Amino acid sequence: MNKKNAVMALSGGMDSSSLLLHLLHLGYNVTCLSFDYGQKHHVELERAKSLVEYLSQHGYEVEHKFVDLKSAFSLFESDLLVNGGDVPEGHYEEDSMKATVVPNRNAIFASLLYGTALSLSEKTGSSSVVALGVHSGDHAIYPDCRPEFYNALDHAFAIGNWGSDSISFYLPYLESDKAGILRDAETAIGALELNFEEVFSRTITSYSPDPDGRSSGKTGSDVERILAFHSIGREDPIDYVDRWEVVLQAALATERTHKETEYKERLTAIQFHVTRESGTERAFTGEYYDEKRAGDYFCICCDKLLFTSSMKFDSGCGWPSFHTEHHDAGILRIEDRTHGMLRIEVRCDACDAHLGHVFPDGPKQYGGERYCINSASLKFDEEEDQ
Ligand code: FE
Repeated sequence: MNKKNAVMALSGGMDSSSLLLHLLHLGYNVTCLSFDYGQKHHVELERAKSLVEYLSQHGYEVEHKFVDLKSAFSLFESDLLVNGGDVPEGHYEEDSMKATVVPNRNAIFASLLYGTALSLSEKTGSSSVVALGVHSGDHAIYPDCRPEFYNALDHAFAIGNWGSDSISFYLPYLESDKAGILRDAETAIGALELNFEEVFSRTITSYSPDPDGRSSGKTGSDVERILAFHSIGREDPIDYVDRWEVVLQAALATERTHKETEYKERLTAIQFHVTRESGTERAFTGEYYDEKRAGDYFCICCDKLLFTSSMKFDSGCGWPSFHTEHHDAGILRIEDRTHGMLRIEVRCDACDAHLGHVFPDGPKQYGGERYCINSASLKFDEEEDQ
């Protein structure tokens, strides 16, 4: 039987490079298209070429074609293109990043990929997938990276072509984020017996590299990439204009500022004060101190499951009290010496929200602890009737 074909866009960025490894690991016969569409970060095409060469040196052959779309894309306005304004700096979910959207870009790319896949299936007599590296981190700013868009495209292309029953879309990262993509790439690289640093030094994610191809570390796409490497415990092997420690600290600061702004917009004044400024709501004023319904308690900031109603008890102290935390909660404990007392503060380990304190006067049969938690740091979801 013929090997199954995959057709994908290899941009030279980390998502599509990871996708290529993912497909090779699954045993696909891969055809990559790299689009020259007048992007400022033209250096990404050299990285794509270099990655394909590296793979070939290690026994993995990939069909790689460059497609010139400069003339067509010169019709469009975007800060990502050579005729556009400066690429904005900041966080990748900020509204200012909308200036980096290129009109209809993914529709055009997907259309060319689909046409290539159809032609390939015709020629080889086997089915093809159109593989795309889109992920959830793109959804906020880029509407043409959302699942509903690709479902609609898939439908339109299928009804507009003969032979489309041999073609399907494959979007393995749709529900993942940049860190998840890197972890997936680690698995594929290990299985293919390649080198992680060698692979990712042949990628670039920045929208505004300097003339030597080094990333500033400051555009939204840079920040997202840096945080992804950091969250899987690795250093990014590409060159930045500054040392890794410097760009990492700057990216973490951008992330913190972005999160604080987002919390301020989303949370009520007391929720923000408690969770982000380590405040305390007054006793007997919170929403849940007397809550007795069955259900789950999540962190108000990040939705992590912290407690369930079966862990709650009535301590009479005026704040929600729990004798145990959920086994996946991983709540952090920190010595708190404020107000002339020694207490143990508890914080959400995922988002660092202040939750309350833990005291040694809880019910003995459950270990003797009392998590004294602010209602303002919790979101309660009532269990639905069976
Ligand atoms: Fe949290």
